[in-house]
Amino acid sequence: MHLSRRSFALGLGAAGIAVSAGAKPKPKVAAPAMLDTIVIGAGMSGLNTALLLEAEGQKVAVLEGRTRVGGRVHTLFDQPGTPEMGFNTMGEGYGRGLDAAQRAGLELIETSARYRKAPPQGLYLGGKSFTRETWAAFDGNPLPAPLKALMPWEVVPRLIAQHTPLTDWTQWYLPESAANDISLHAFLKQQGLSDAAIRLVNDTAPAYGNSAWDVSALMLEWNDGFVKGQIAVGTRQYAIKGGNAKLPIGLAKLLKGDLITGKRVVGIDSGDAHATVYCADGSTMLARRVVCALPLGVMRRIAYWPSLPEPQARAIATVPYQQLANIFATVSRPFWEEDKLGPGMWTNSPLGTIFPQYFGATDSEVTGLLFQARGELALAWDRMGRDAAMAMVVQTLEQLRPAAKGTVNPVHYHSWGAEEYSTGAWAVFMPGQIRDLHATMALPAGRVHFAGEHTATGARGLEAALESSERVAIEVLSA
Ligand SMILES: Cc1cc2nc3c(=O)[nH]c(=O)nc-3n(C[C@H](O)[C@H](O)[C@H](O)COP(=O)(O)OP(=O)(O)OC[C@H]3O[C@@H](n4cnc5c(N)ncnc54)[C@H](O)[C@@H]3O)c2cc1C
Repeated sequence: MHLSRRSFALGLGAAGIAVSAGAKPKPKVAAPAMLDTIVIGAGMSGLNTALLLEAEGQKVAVLEGRTRVGGRVHTLFDQPGTPEMGFNTMGEGYGRGLDAAQRAGLELIETSARYRKAPPQGLYLGGKSFTRETWAAFDGNPLPAPLKALMPWEVVPRLIAQHTPLTDWTQWYLPESAANDISLHAFLKQQGLSDAAIRLVNDTAPAYGNSAWDVSALMLEWNDGFVKGQIAVGTRQYAIKGGNAKLPIGLAKLLKGDLITGKRVVGIDSGDAHATVYCADGSTMLARRVVCALPLGVMRRIAYWPSLPEPQARAIATVPYQQLANIFATVSRPFWEEDKLGPGMWTNSPLGTIFPQYFGATDSEVTGLLFQARGELALAWDRMGRDAAMAMVVQTLEQLRPAAKGTVNPVHYHSWGAEEYSTGAWAVFMPGQIRDLHATMALPAGRVHFAGEHTATGARGLEAALESSERVAIEVLSA
């Protein structure tokens, strides 16, 4: 199915229907026999790669498996407050992200002020609610004395920030830093944490991996350096007014060439004269170069001729992705005003964490609750299935907080791990993988080049996706 970029951007891109934005149907555009570059994946990295190549005069087509653009930028436009299932905010130091918003002609909203005014996140352990003070004094607090006053979710970022061995975080992926490529568990042990403390502060809701054993401390040290760099620029956080998915939709509108949605790529042949891309619908497309702007997890489902070299193949086969599932719920009555405990909750129960959404007309209006599960809990929700998981989080909340009874209505389940086009929220490097794979896993293989957040060396998140598009565009243009 070929969709013009304008028809897609207006959200009319249902699979199997080619619709144009204007009154008259736009004729289908036949793909040229030979393109300069085919970009696979219309996430932020793929879209920006295509725009950069077009700016240099290339003929480019973007192939996207889903029927929407944006990948891990995904807004629920039909829910109150237009909640985000993926990308949330960019900092003041996101030069590329802010520039992309400007190029797409989009307005930004500042989001951090309203979160600073919000009541603090509540701590619920074993069915009991704690304040910072009662937690610090609690007999069952497993943290070493100097850390007892920290809430569990504050411990890992604080220890990494204070004890990172990196003197220059921008060197995190270089051989000089390889000695730090140890498990987060080993790092936290060095800081005096017991296994029980590590389970609580990390494994309950891990930022990376399923447990502290399966993520490299170096990955968190890189993230810490990036965050410190961002804070040095400023602490404001921005989102796109009306929903972040307007950003990839806006970039897609700027494309000159074809953006074909519902087009799942299943094979890439990097031939001598040109590359051939095979799609699940049986079609093939030809180009001089191919850019794979895809998560490693989905690249496992693509065939490569010839086989990819060792580092690329091993990265694709072994780098895990963060398991993360979200349930968005609307609330009929602010039950937190009744029990005076605040809407935000960090729990060690199967409901996971609750992030209140403050996207109403006033800064304090709660437009819904986002229940989030990470790591093992996200896998458990997925195994339970959408409906059972949604019912379970409500029941668990009502047990913990009787004032919530009958007020919470879960409306949307989104698991990044279970999505075939993402396999997880972000790449997680296991101990040793940065040392062994990072420097070489994104090198071009014949006519095939690699982009995506996991290939960045400087930035994280959305900014990483855009960073990778700049590197890969230069690579393609100079090939
Ligand atoms: C829950 C969550 C919260 C986040 N919060 C933030 C945040 O606050 N700040 C921040 O900076 N970053 C955040 N991020 C990260 C940010 O969203 C990502 O780093 C970025 O969007 C990744 O872009 P990408 O282009 O690398 O990959 P993707 O967005 O995954 O793009 C890949 C594209 O390829 C397509 N595709 C997959 N397989 C095929 C195939 N076989 N054929 C054709 N197309 C295919 C996919 O559908 C997708 O559109 C968050 C992510 C998540 C999931």
